[in-house]
Amino acid sequence: MWGKKAAPAAALAGSLHDEKLKSSIILNAIEDGVVLIDCQGIIRVFNPGAGVITGWSAEEAEGLDWRLVFKFVDTKGQAVADNDTIFSKALTSALSIRDNAASLASKSNKTVAVSLSVSPLVDSTKTQTGVVGIFRDVSVERQDESRRADFISTASHEMRTPVAAIEGYLSLALNEKVANIDAKARDYLEKAHASTRHLGQLFQDLLTSAKAEDGRLTNHPRVIEIGSFTEQLVSDLKFSAEKKGLFLDSNLSSGGTAEPMRVVRPLYYALVDPERMQEVITNLFDNAVKYTDTGRITIGLTGNEQVVQLSIKDTGNGIPTEDVPHLFQKFYRVDNSDTRTIGGTGLGLFICRKIVELYQGRIWVESEFHKGSTFFINLPRLTTQKAEAMLAEESNNSGLGSLPNGGTV
Ligand code: ADP
Repeated sequence: MWGKKAAPAAALAGSLHDEKLKSSIILNAIEDGVVLIDCQGIIRVFNPGAGVITGWSAEEAEGLDWRLVFKFVDTKGQAVADNDTIFSKALTSALSIRDNAASLASKSNKTVAVSLSVSPLVDSTKTQTGVVGIFRDVSVERQDESRRADFISTASHEMRTPVAAIEGYLSLALNEKVANIDAKARDYLEKAHASTRHLGQLFQDLLTSAKAEDGRLTNHPRVIEIGSFTEQLVSDLKFSAEKKGLFLDSNLSSGGTAEPMRVVRPLYYALVDPERMQEVITNLFDNAVKYTDTGRITIGLTGNEQVVQLSIKDTGNGIPTEDVPHLFQKFYRVDNSDTRTIGGTGLGLFICRKIVELYQGRIWVESEFHKGSTFFINLPRLTTQKAEAMLAEESNNSGLGSLPNGGTV
């Protein structure tokens, strides 16, 4: 009788032992780092793969607080605050989080590029018991990426110069004051000129996107009143919309004495680089024109105490729902019968996102296929008081007066 009862117990103990053995065989064989951290932040499992990447052995790491072992650093090698790390976020939010761009300082203080995915662990009562992190050393891949970006930025920088020269000579050839050409030659040269400009813009976009990726985008933020800045810019851009027969309206004007009935809108100041902001707005405006055959483009400006919100709305092609999540990725273009004949690189929105993120802003789109799209940009707003104080300081430093749009007189 005892024998009968003992058999399943022994089998269970055996199978549990087998399970443990199997798990440890698997964990030991995995090349990726695997770490299990409990809700108190203590490392409970640390496989040999994790040891190779971090330089800590399982004996050293298990039982320690994860913060002692996982020292996250940013691209400049500076320590990342514990609360901003993926482990902290996963432990507090109970969400699965992925970070393909993280770096760790190893035990010997060597920086290792890692890609991590951290998921919550829950027990049978759905209570979180900790997190499991899986990570791998991606130093080689990241070096390759950086070399590729370097090549693209050097090549596009070098190619921009001769293209600019060709564009200049074509402009001269098209200038009636300096060159005599017949109508046919003018037609050919105009086409060559348009293509050269397109090529020049392509090199510029490649250069900007390569720089945006490795954080080398030049950025000289200044206090800008987004309304008057955009109004000025749109008055330069509007011809392309008018040429296509599109209507253009906006609520950007700050009103004033000329039209007494007009409501004076609030001033929306933000700290941004005017050249970068011009790139973003021009890109969104050009896209609105490019992807709209008939109807109107509406520029809107609104906000609250914390945020300035700029919107560019069109009545054009619209974007299919399944494309929306990918739109701000590098080289992504919507591929359908509406867009196939329209030229482009898929770099514009990627660059826009990178620039807006420089200022802790957000860019997104709401769109209805075949009805139109609205692109939104949110930027942190500066209070008028703070903006004016900063402008006064700016003009004191430069010894010049300042205009409300951030320009100097
Ligand atoms: P490009 O216009 O050079 O292709 P972008 O990065 O500026 O690259 O835009 C990516 C894609 O998003 C475009 O190819 C287009 O399909 C879609 N798109 C962008 N703006 C609009 C818009 N206003 N209306 C419809 N589709 C748009």
